[in-house]
Amino acid sequence: MNARTLHCGSVMHCLGNPASGGRLERFEKGALLVSADGYVEAVGPEEALLPGLDAEVVRHDGHVIVPGFIDCHVHFPQLDIIASFGEQLMDWLDRYAYPGEMRLADIEYARELADLFVDALLAYGTTSALVFATVHPHSAEVLFEAALEKDLRLIAGKVLMDRGAPEALLDTPESAYADSRALIERWHGRGRLGYAITPRFALTSSEAQLEQAGRLAAEYPDVWMHTHLAENDREIEAVTKAFPWSSSYLDVYDRYGLVRERSMFAHCLHLSDAERRRMAESGSAAAFCPSSNLFLGSGLYDLERMREAGVRTGLATDVGGGTCLSMLRTMGDAYKVLQLNGQVLAPAEALYLATLGAAEALGVDAHVGNFVPGKEADFVILDPAATRLSAHRDMHTTSLDERLFVLTTLGDDRHVAATAIKGTLHSQA
Ligand SMILES: [Zn+2]
Repeated sequence: MNARTLHCGSVMHCLGNPASGGRLERFEKGALLVSADGYVEAVGPEEALLPGLDAEVVRHDGHVIVPGFIDCHVHFPQLDIIASFGEQLMDWLDRYAYPGEMRLADIEYARELADLFVDALLAYGTTSALVFATVHPHSAEVLFEAALEKDLRLIAGKVLMDRGAPEALLDTPESAYADSRALIERWHGRGRLGYAITPRFALTSSEAQLEQAGRLAAEYPDVWMHTHLAENDREIEAVTKAFPWSSSYLDVYDRYGLVRERSMFAHCLHLSDAERRRMAESGSAAAFCPSSNLFLGSGLYDLERMREAGVRTGLATDVGGGTCLSMLRTMGDAYKVLQLNGQVLAPAEALYLATLGAAEALGVDAHVGNFVPGKEADFVILDPAATRLSAHRDMHTTSLDERLFVLTTLGDDRHVAATAIKGTLHSQA
């Protein structure tokens, strides 16, 4: 495409965190101007942008345009075991997650799953994600290949795991270092891709392996670090036993230099004030995974306390502990979790957590997260009338915020009319 494109519809995007006074910009009859090479040129009321403009005009009447969703924590190999019955974290890993991940020893199978995953992200309106692969280096390779083909902004890594899991899924401290390093050299910074050093969690890495992870983190400061933290009571007890010298769960990672800028910790449900303070001062971030936390019965995320402590939060599906790749539905689940915790998540803040807030948590907000001119034009065209029920409910809304809230409660992939990656629309089949 050579021409600039003006996408007309209702537009919403966050300029800051609405919970701390940041603005949610809304245009009922809005428009988004995208350059020929896929960057945001302007956003505003249609009547201000359209007259005399030399651009192709695409109308999305009745639809809502929001920035592409950003999933801060998701496991692509677990599409195999999503919706597995009856267990909490530790048994769920043994019974479902590990056996499922063994199948990715077969590279062709891994490739098929990576393609399915990337297409599914687009179908749900997710344009950026931080992703767990499996222990097999080729699982990260095939995922990067699939993401590069569609030009997703994707950060991923091979899992580091040298104990506490089935033999077939174990690496060693040395292979973990060498394989991660080779993947970083090959993929980090290529297109919109990034690499994340990915120890599964403290219990599945020996101290020797955590040391190697820390060595990588020091050698590659602009590479991400991605792991789990304080998800489940039994897990936390086991960490205390496995690392008797540690003062907290976070302290285990801290000892090895893994608590830093560009560190993303999934869950963070059972933290002390000292751990929250340490996360904030180190510039590391938390992934709030409401669907997974409900499904595995892990606990309730305390958004207010994390915000007060100055810890950045991004929203995440955590499939397959989470039950849906839809960030719309995850926003709805976040609302419910916070209700159980005596907190109210306004639609504006839910949108923030799934877009700009997630971009800030990942440190990619210079590129994506909202429609500030110069950013990559990743966006989602939402159709509130995609189902008969949601169409009916939408008729009774009185504001854009309410329309968005209804979408986070009733919406899923059917409500994603199209997803744009750097201005290129991928329509739903
Ligand atoms: Zn997870």
